[in-house]
Amino acid sequence: MIKDLSPNEARKRLGSIGRLLYDTRAITLWERDTKLLPWPLRRLRRRYRDFAQRELEPISLKADADPQSVDIKELFLKAAREGFQTEFLPPPIGTANPLALLKSFTMHFALKAEEFCAACAGLGLALLAHDLGIAPLFISGDPKAILKWMKKIYDEIKAGEASIAAFAITEPNAGSDAEDTVGAAYAKAGCKAKKVPGGWRISGRKVFISNGRVAKWVTLFAAIEGEGFESWTCFLLDKSMEGFSVGRSEKKMGQKAADATELILEDIFVPDDRVIGPVRGGWAINRNVLNYSRPVVGAIALGIARGAFERALRFCHEAKLNNKPLVSYQEVQLELADMLLKLFAMRATVWHSMRYRIPFQTAGSIAKVFCSDMAWDVCNQAMALMEDHGFLHCHGVEKAARDARLTQIYEGTNQINRLAIIEGQLNAEFHIPDFYE
Ligand SMILES: Cc1cc2nc3c(=O)[nH]c(=O)nc-3n(C[C@H](O)[C@H](O)[C@H](O)COP(=O)(O)OP(=O)(O)OC[C@H]3O[C@@H](n4cnc5c(N)ncnc54)[C@H](O)[C@@H]3O)c2cc1C
Repeated sequence: MIKDLSPNEARKRLGSIGRLLYDTRAITLWERDTKLLPWPLRRLRRRYRDFAQRELEPISLKADADPQSVDIKELFLKAAREGFQTEFLPPPIGTANPLALLKSFTMHFALKAEEFCAACAGLGLALLAHDLGIAPLFISGDPKAILKWMKKIYDEIKAGEASIAAFAITEPNAGSDAEDTVGAAYAKAGCKAKKVPGGWRISGRKVFISNGRVAKWVTLFAAIEGEGFESWTCFLLDKSMEGFSVGRSEKKMGQKAADATELILEDIFVPDDRVIGPVRGGWAINRNVLNYSRPVVGAIALGIARGAFERALRFCHEAKLNNKPLVSYQEVQLELADMLLKLFAMRATVWHSMRYRIPFQTAGSIAKVFCSDMAWDVCNQAMALMEDHGFLHCHGVEKAARDARLTQIYEGTNQINRLAIIEGQLNAEFHIPDFYE
């Protein structure tokens, strides 16, 4: 009787057209979603997943427990050999598939972030933060930044060097202020650049810089001496410059495999040709980098949540209650369904935000806030399903919860991103003409 009522059986009673219109294939959502993508992105999604399962998943727990045990540069080179670390542009400069860029400049980054972070968000961040470091070169639209510096970095990577980049905006006294219009208007910039013949002298400190320890290059934002954040200018620094040193790496709660490090600049001479974009063009570049990167943070959160869901699902198949697998209980199924519907909504949000060819503030912040809040929920649901087992490091679910928490903080806290959503729609929907007064 129950068998007769199953959708698969019921479908057989329809005529051929009715059967055609009724999709009961037993394939995963992952497969279905992949088929929604244009073929170059489909192929990429599979390649990112294969790489993540082969190179990241097996060392994920070890990297979390002992970040020093993983050679990030070696891992970077493995990803680079797949073409995954030079993806802003197609050949001859980069390795992106031009057809993958046709619809969106950022979709492939979102696919990469989900797959890498489903396997390990710490290792994923270490690989993805490099793209963030390169982003100002591309987004500045400055031909010199692209044809000279980005090409140089990409050439080094293609030649087998771990030429890693980092992105440095945060200062000891400017976290949110470096991401928010109103905060920046009142804050005092701590990293200063002074014009001298042939270049600039830069002093100050940057903190919490992902990849700060392993990077060779840093896209760094500094205010012109005597001026505020509106004068921010982007510079490309390399660690070999005299006066550049690396300070403390933070002991973190999550995403531990990626370092978050203090950078110390003591009267560093930076030649004029290392200015990225126009002098005083840095605030615009910074804000636009965030427009591009925030949906990718949404995808990082989605990946972490998916990883937690998949681990919990596996557990619910293996663990037994009254001699029956946990997954056969309706209460457990309700919880799993709730997690899955959140994952579905998160992916829809990220992918929708990527449909805008040029990313913009409102869409980027919505994807970041929604997915990071949902990821926190999903990871906690996974822990609740597994209870004492969820609390153990070996299952990877408590790690996912710790990893997820960070997505609510970096690239602007979720409070700041909520403000960005309103700011982005001020003129279009909110009609608040004197908002900046
Ligand atoms: C692990 C890690 C990696 C990071 N990686 C990088 C990196 O690679 N490069 C980089 O430049 N930075 C990086 N950051 C910095 C990160 O982007 C900042 O931590 C973040 O922007 C928040 O800044 P803050 O910590 O100074 O918080 P604060 O700005 O001090 O904020 C404290 C609290 O006040 C709230 N708040 C502040 N202003 C307002 C307001 N106007 N209205 C309402 N609430 C407000 C915030 O939401 C928050 O809750 C990283 C941080 C971490 C933790």
